[in-house]
Amino acid sequence: ATPVAIMVGTGRGAEMGILFKSAEVLETLHGVRAVVLDKTGTITAGKPTVTDVMPARRADGSPAMSEKALMKLAAALERGSEHPLAEAIMARAEELGIVARTVQDFAAIPGRGVTAREGTNAIAAGNAALMDELGVAVDRAALDELARAGKTPLLFAKNGELVGIIAVADDVKATSAAAIAALGKLGIRTIMLTGDNETTARAIAAKVGVSEVIAGVMPADKERVVRELQGDGGTVAMVGDGINDSPALARADVGLTIGAGADVAKEGADVILMKSDLMDVPRAIELSRAVIRNIK
Ligand code: ADP
Ligand code: MG
Repeated sequence: ATPVAIMVGTGRGAEMGILFKSAEVLETLHGVRAVVLDKTGTITAGKPTVTDVMPARRADGSPAMSEKALMKLAAALERGSEHPLAEAIMARAEELGIVARTVQDFAAIPGRGVTAREGTNAIAAGNAALMDELGVAVDRAALDELARAGKTPLLFAKNGELVGIIAVADDVKATSAAAIAALGKLGIRTIMLTGDNETTARAIAAKVGVSEVIAGVMPADKERVVRELQGDGGTVAMVGDGINDSPALARADVGLTIGAGADVAKEGADVILMKSDLMDVPRAIELSRAVIRNIK
């Protein structure tokens, strides 16, 4: 029979907007040693906005294209993408009154970016790894400067040449730093997991007090990273929004998904945080510890 304490604990959780999908999860949660946090949409708001539009310079110092032309190219490329970064580009394009041109042969490359063809031009948007793959030379100094400020630089190429960089920033949620401090007080290790680049990820981690960062992880590899952390010993919880991280949420001993996330994750997750507030992660763990203390 289910102990009364677990029923009471589950009920208390529900009142707080913390939905435990089973009685076992409340039990498992009390022994969690490490919490893996997805960056985009979990630690940050998941609503990135464009901060910088920087056309590349030609050898003679003149811009490769105007800012407006770069935004038009970006809109044409990103209109077919569902990534939050693409949404940021499209929102800015709309503000500028840009109607996105249609492209051919559009392809999304998870964790890297997008490629397409526009007439006879091969065009692409993505991170440095994508540009390396396409043989496009990249201005590392400009990238590093943006990334150190916690921004994500998106690179744009046309026919094998870099034509510009558009930087996007995603603010950290109001309670992220407090939640991470609270987890620390509970003796729990926190680890940020992201497909974003290492420098940007570390800048954001520093803002919220996360000490461990695993960056540049392809969506398909997030699950493996969780498995490796489990191998280090101890029970691992994962918090995500379900965009790219459902397999990792399912792999973790406890998968917690924040309410605003994709529905697929809710199916895979063990705990749903209805208020999308990261403070509910330490609250859920405290609740489970209190319940287990009562049983024993
Ligand atoms: P996250 O872990 O933050 O959800 P992803 O794995 O989805 O990140 O993406 C990793 C990186 O791939 C992004 O930071 C970005 O540099 C690049 N990328 C992904 N999708 C796009 C896109 N539509 N346009 C440009 N760059 C993209
Ligand atoms: Mg994500």
